[in-house]
Amino acid sequence: MDQTLKTWYSSNFESRLRGRYITLDHLQPILESYHDKYDISIIGHSELGNDIHLIKIGKGKKTILAWSQMHGNESTTTKAIFDILRFFSKNDAFKSQISTFLKKYTLYIIPMLNPDGAALYSRENANGVDLNRDAQDLSQKESKVLNTLFKDLSPDLCLNLHDQRSLFGLHTGMPAAISFLSPAADADRNNTPERKIAMQLIVRMNRMLQGLVPGKVGRYDDTYNPDCVGDSFQKAGVPTILFEAGHNGNDYQREQSRELIFFALLTLFGIVDTQEGDVEEYFLIPENRKNYRDVILRDVILNDKSSTCSIAIQFEEKLIGNKIKLSPKLDEMGDLDHLTGHREVLVNSAEILLNSQNNLEIGEIVSIISNKNDDSLIYFNKNSINIS
Ligand SMILES: [Zn+2]
Repeated sequence: MDQTLKTWYSSNFESRLRGRYITLDHLQPILESYHDKYDISIIGHSELGNDIHLIKIGKGKKTILAWSQMHGNESTTTKAIFDILRFFSKNDAFKSQISTFLKKYTLYIIPMLNPDGAALYSRENANGVDLNRDAQDLSQKESKVLNTLFKDLSPDLCLNLHDQRSLFGLHTGMPAAISFLSPAADADRNNTPERKIAMQLIVRMNRMLQGLVPGKVGRYDDTYNPDCVGDSFQKAGVPTILFEAGHNGNDYQREQSRELIFFALLTLFGIVDTQEGDVEEYFLIPENRKNYRDVILRDVILNDKSSTCSIAIQFEEKLIGNKIKLSPKLDEMGDLDHLTGHREVLVNSAEILLNSQNNLEIGEIVSIISNKNDDSLIYFNKNSINIS
């Protein structure tokens, strides 16, 4: 990775967007500030009548269509898109690479397809519909907006931009800091020519990312689902890539994650140089598994039992006021050898109490974990960690 680029990123990323709660109100003033630089239009409205914007950049014959925040609470890729907008408008050092790209390609970006879900911090839209399961029915206004644009543009490449939860890891024991999928175009998961194009592009991004987060790139399950937008576009003959910004370490704000997406996009656009790889290399990227949890306490004694066990805690994200809080929920108990914690706490066979009680149920919010014998604190959470 070019050091100039890394240095540029750390002082020039879009600092007006931070954290997880990104709504149309956050985007509007930034879009406004770009009105004389980019072609920005409103291409439709959400179920609640909010604007859905389209940003058009470049003059090339080849077209790329990207959309972010189809799931309202998945904002990391939206932040990365605005980092890209800054990069295109401000970077003198890479001027020739940028202009080469923008002569060859026209980039169409919907920065927020689901503004109602974004405001609610929900995956679904205002009617509770998952837009990424609405590709056949097209029952929602947001789905129709994307589908109409897809048909009008008939793009050469589609980018379906998402976030994945912190419970995704790889069989190697590494977390999935970022994952990709070249979706299946049929139930047999044949390697259609379009799938192969998407796979090769993923291989290029993976090669670059191995330098930034070695061993932490994942590949999503490719079971065919025609209700998913990526699968339906791939089936329609347009190479489509699913991006899943993931969790790594303590990055609950997903700021490191956004940087990975930024560099992945620059690689895809040919601005960051990497070697090409073949399709076989795509299948060497380890598949995502649900084998991570936010916190795991190992070697604890619970409920007056004689043997030790482990406890997994998973944070639930809740919108309270205009802040996202993380609520720690008791997720699983047992030996939990199949799981890894983003944070692991070794308790050394102490007898513990959860919230000062015995027999806490799975699903309950855990505020305090203490040592039953000496009352010392093992884990404390004020019922919420503010992450935006
Ligand atoms: Zn998603």
